[in-house]
Amino acid sequence: MIRLQSFVNDAWVDGTGEPAVLVNPSTEAPVAEATTGGIDMAAALAHSRDVGGPALRAMTFAERGAMLGTMAAKLHEYREELLDISRVNNGATRGDAKFDVDGATGTLEAYKRVGEKLGDKQVLVDGDITRLSRARFVAHHVRMPRPGVAIHINAFNFPAWGTFEKVAVSILAGMPVLSKPATATSWLAWRMSQIIIEAGILPAGAYSFLAGSAGDLLSHVGPHDTLAFTGSASTAGLLRGMDGFTKGSTAINVEADSLNAAVLGPKAEPGSDLWYLAVRNIVKDMTQKTGQKCTAVRRILAPVEWMDDLSEAISEELGRVVVGEPGTNGVDMGPVATASQLRDGRAGIEALAEQTSLVCGGSDPIQGTGAPEGKGYFIRPTLLRAADARSADKVHRHEVFGPCATLLPYDGSADDAAGVVALGGGSLVSSVYTDDRKWLGEFLMGAAPWNGRVLAATAKVADETLPPGMVLPNCLHGGPGRAGGGEELGGLRGLEFYTHRVAIQGDRGILSKILGIPSE
Ligand code: NAP
Repeated sequence: MIRLQSFVNDAWVDGTGEPAVLVNPSTEAPVAEATTGGIDMAAALAHSRDVGGPALRAMTFAERGAMLGTMAAKLHEYREELLDISRVNNGATRGDAKFDVDGATGTLEAYKRVGEKLGDKQVLVDGDITRLSRARFVAHHVRMPRPGVAIHINAFNFPAWGTFEKVAVSILAGMPVLSKPATATSWLAWRMSQIIIEAGILPAGAYSFLAGSAGDLLSHVGPHDTLAFTGSASTAGLLRGMDGFTKGSTAINVEADSLNAAVLGPKAEPGSDLWYLAVRNIVKDMTQKTGQKCTAVRRILAPVEWMDDLSEAISEELGRVVVGEPGTNGVDMGPVATASQLRDGRAGIEALAEQTSLVCGGSDPIQGTGAPEGKGYFIRPTLLRAADARSADKVHRHEVFGPCATLLPYDGSADDAAGVVALGGGSLVSSVYTDDRKWLGEFLMGAAPWNGRVLAATAKVADETLPPGMVLPNCLHGGPGRAGGGEELGGLRGLEFYTHRVAIQGDRGILSKILGIPSE
């Protein structure tokens, strides 16, 4: 069994005390252990702030971007090993593992290009110059790297992408990182961290890593530290209430639960290209990473007269999905990542079934193909159907973090569809399939404010659209309300969280020289 260590103060350290045990979710066999017991979290943060911060801030965007490119290339050299760790510790199929690992390297690459574009600058200009007198007295609004530590706490489902999408943006912005993956699936993030540390790509103090619990880390945050948290709404609520974030105003960005929707609108009737696109995307979203994707569809809306056809089309596809040990030939979908996810997933299906009817799947145990008898955290792809969208309130409140979604009928109007989407209280992404422009316009006005991202699939772009579950480095990721109210990525926009905006008033000529920005 591998022992995962933490990297703090530029050294690998072994925690003390009882370790958490990581398992293979297909076999339940222990594969690794980790503990952060005894690690001085305050000292770790101070080292990042005092050593890593100055080193990164002395560099230009182009130099920091170049390091991200080197990290991507180095990680890519180990791709096969990383995909295998993902199978063993995350229960990922090869496709799911690629989604996570290649998503990480792809995001590093994308932010390398953002750095190239920003070039040899060290501050970001925010808007136009503001004239404050008739002559030379002006104000520049600029964004500068925060002189603190970018703390990242990630969820269990994307140990590779979740870790490195945050690393890419923070390092490019000029902040040192302290990254903590969810313990249960931390082997992959640990190995990737080990690769980039051993390669000596980043300056001293720029990267720290915790394998195991966060301990009292968040009791030591300072005014310019930041916390980017991805995980459950309940943990987010707990963290938001801590003194550093309330009394100390330390910035926190939350990506939490989300009840994403897919909506079939007019001119996406059964048999049309948009219909097939919707069915394909819905099934992919439900089964990719065994539905453990923050962007996976949980609510499927269609006009009441299409419900039977849609229910049949989706359940037929789900019926073909082979569930089992992801290294076994023919297996399409692996297990969920942990025993508690299996317990929560089954309990969630049962809770939703109180207000819906079961179309296919369900909470009964299932033997995974290729898995040892009675072992593994396998769950059936499950489709539920509500008779009335608005009275099935649990469907709009309870996220089953697994391969489960619910069909919800609406009356065909854009207004009703947007209203049902909004019942989710804020989502990361919704997709809409229609070729009726007027209807789409009305729907977007009502539904877009309830989402971080909306995919509008119309006939002419049907062949070009990417699945809604795919988070892209150049588009915003985050969502209002229940989804946490956060924003990550979005190209240059992602740097906002890690930079401080300041208005600097003074002599136009002097300021433009010092700050390296145009005086007009
Ligand atoms: P979780 O239980 O909230 O854990 C998330 C992270 O928080 C883990 O790293 C965990 O560490 C850490 N943590 C827990 N308690 C903490 C505390 N008191 N202080 C500091 N850190 C603490 O969530 P999860 O089960 O990993 O993830 C599932 C949820 O994440 C789902 O509900 C899903 O919707 C959401 N999610 C959202 C997004 C998004 O982008 N919006 C993406 C993925 C997942 P340990 O593992 O060491 O306990």
